[in-house]
Amino acid sequence: MFKKGLKLYSIFKSKCPHCQEDDFFEGSRFKANVAEKCNVCGEKFSKEPGFYQGSYYVTYALGVAIFVAVWVASRVLFPEMSMPILATIIVSALLLMTPFSYYLSKIIWAIFFSVINHEQKMRELLLENYEHLFEIELLDEIKKVGYIKNIPEGDVIINIGDTVRNMPLLLEGAIKVSRLDDDGDELLLYYLEKGDVCAMTLTCCTGNSISEIRAVAEMDSKIIMVPVQKMADWVRDYETWRTFVFESYNSRFKEMLEAIDNLAFLNMHERVLKYLKHKVIVTKDTFLYVTHQTIAYDLHTSRVVISRILKSLEKEGKLKLDRNKIEFLDF
Ligand SMILES: [Zn+2]
Repeated sequence: MFKKGLKLYSIFKSKCPHCQEDDFFEGSRFKANVAEKCNVCGEKFSKEPGFYQGSYYVTYALGVAIFVAVWVASRVLFPEMSMPILATIIVSALLLMTPFSYYLSKIIWAIFFSVINHEQKMRELLLENYEHLFEIELLDEIKKVGYIKNIPEGDVIINIGDTVRNMPLLLEGAIKVSRLDDDGDELLLYYLEKGDVCAMTLTCCTGNSISEIRAVAEMDSKIIMVPVQKMADWVRDYETWRTFVFESYNSRFKEMLEAIDNLAFLNMHERVLKYLKHKVIVTKDTFLYVTHQTIAYDLHTSRVVISRILKSLEKEGKLKLDRNKIEFLDF
């Protein structure tokens, strides 16, 4: 009945006020036990202790609305109705609606604060990260349709075969984009950093298409998710967006060429060194918390080979190996 994107959808389906994916209530919604947080976008449903005490104002307002609606309807439809009967009908309507208004008021209250909160947060983040790239009108549009998502390190944002519904605009952190071959072996394509957009999602602006890459948060990251359907409109309407899209294509393409060069012309020794150097730049940390197995996956080789190369790099004084940690020394 109500389309996703409308706040009424959240209200009547009891979904997260922010992303509308996860359930707002734990168990039956009639018990109105508000869940702690949304497991999809991370929105906290209880801002502080006693947050939902304020929802009694909404319950009260709903009660008044029901009272007025029943009163007016009875007067119009049955002008002859006597006062005691009218009063009985109103009281019954109020009693009948009590369980509904109890949970409705909680979710309406949460939506009210969620909207104010996110508008403000999103405006600040957009201005901080994208003001130099986009005009104010475009920033406003992004604010209207996008939502913020916090992704903990190691979480998969999209997998191969998933439908691409959103395009990520990176605000903080880094995202590792890789491909898998038929045997399930991984090959690192590139990293997305602040201000980057994934070239793969740029190609699917015309509808829901299937992802050919896997994107994993390299570190705790914050992104704005924008529905891919908007991409085509913005390419048509905003010059700054067109430039952004073409430049992103360009730099992703260059990175892919570099990845091919690395595969074709560098030996594994050089590739490992380059890989670690790149990781230091992306994470801005000379201590790399990465297992030999992960490096092997990313570079499409075996763990034994990686361990051997890392040992010889340590002998050359380019790095120091520690338990689950590599200190990079070669600059
Ligand atoms: Zn959510």
